[in-house]
Amino acid sequence: MNLNLWTSFIEIVNLHDCKDETYFKNIVAWLNRNTYYFSDDLLKRHRLDALLATDPAEYEVRSCGYSTLANWKGIEESGIKRMKLDTFLMLVSDDLWEMFPTKRQQCAHCDVDEMRYVVIRTEDQDREELALECIQCGDLEYWDGRELQANIQTIRPATKSDRLDLRLRFKR
Ligand SMILES: [Zn+2]
Repeated sequence: MNLNLWTSFIEIVNLHDCKDETYFKNIVAWLNRNTYYFSDDLLKRHRLDALLATDPAEYEVRSCGYSTLANWKGIEESGIKRMKLDTFLMLVSDDLWEMFPTKRQQCAHCDVDEMRYVVIRTEDQDREELALECIQCGDLEYWDGRELQANIQTIRPATKSDRLDLRLRFKR
């Protein structure tokens, strides 16, 4: 990974130690400023494309306990150079996605009881629908409990407007 890119990233992470809305917005803005370094494929693979396509102010974010990124400040330069962009973006994505609202609900496929609000578009439907995604195994179901079997075309985090449309209250 390019050292200058890393340094500019750490400057952003250092601006706000606690993870809050500003931390989220700063990282999204940083990604937008540096898309030159990231191929569309990379952004898509780590589900950052969906995130960058939306105004960060539209998202409701919560703080999350542990930031892998913030704890990287001390990594040696040699380690940074060896780190693949792919790995870096995976961790950025994990950090950001972890900040979206979740609902306490048992996943049907694993032992986790926390599901994230997402909006999906399926191949057989030309509209978006609110769904819940297991934070561990990624299993999806419609927000009202209907089983989801269709092929998913896109998944993005749910925004404030998605919630208001459905009069849902996100747990933060
Ligand atoms: Zn699960």
